[in-house]
Amino acid sequence: MNIDVRRESRSRHQDPIARVGIRLPIAGLTPMTTLDHPDHLACVVFLQGCPLRCGYCHNPQMLPSRRGKREEWEKILKFLENRRGLLDSVVFSGGEPTTHADLVAAMKDAKALGFKVGLHTAGVYPRRLETLLPWLDWVGFDVKGHVDDFEHIAGRLGTWPRHAQSLGLLLDSNIDLECRTTIHWRDFDLKAVERLALSLADCGVRRYALQLARTEQCLASAYAEPVVDAPLPEELARLVKRLAPRFDQLTLRE
Ligand code: SF4
Repeated sequence: MNIDVRRESRSRHQDPIARVGIRLPIAGLTPMTTLDHPDHLACVVFLQGCPLRCGYCHNPQMLPSRRGKREEWEKILKFLENRRGLLDSVVFSGGEPTTHADLVAAMKDAKALGFKVGLHTAGVYPRRLETLLPWLDWVGFDVKGHVDDFEHIAGRLGTWPRHAQSLGLLLDSNIDLECRTTIHWRDFDLKAVERLALSLADCGVRRYALQLARTEQCLASAYAEPVVDAPLPEELARLVKRLAPRFDQLTLRE
């Protein structure tokens, strides 16, 4: 009898809603999307804070970090409880979600509720990413640029080696992976796009997406200006066609 009582109290303890102490600074929630975790109906939880400073960033309000309050994640949990059976996946995005130490606990909660877990990251915290791997079903990995270009585009020195380490971790795992690069013609020319795509293909990346940067509300005002010598759309389309055989899937998002 005693054993049953202990079991009951332990299982109540494991109920994610009953778990306390997770602090995540929630910056927003997309309640339902088919775009953020391929072939899944997902919600997206945006976390405040990012150590990078990409000139094209169109969410500059999301960059400053702050400490989350417990109620913020509890609210998301209640939302998730009500979406059991209706959504397939919870995707954590930002900002840079791996900034936050409590992310792993939040992923465990999402798993305990029966959801798959997705992550959008630029991979600048490989040690934290490593702790997340057992909980991840899908990752959208943000490749800013090729080696030296990476730090120039991301606006932070010292980030490339950590990003490269994260990519290695993901390629060595069985986690579904899409690499994606945001193209702003202030940062790239067609040669640089090709060089980056080929190096990713050589590393073993099978799914890759090129997405053209939005030019409204950029972190750096120069990125909102038209780029005079930007390639024509048909030139980019030709390059994508040429690169396509190097991947299982190469997508151009305009
Ligand atoms: S675009 Fe760059 S600066 Fe903006 S949230 Fe993403 S990684 Fe951070």
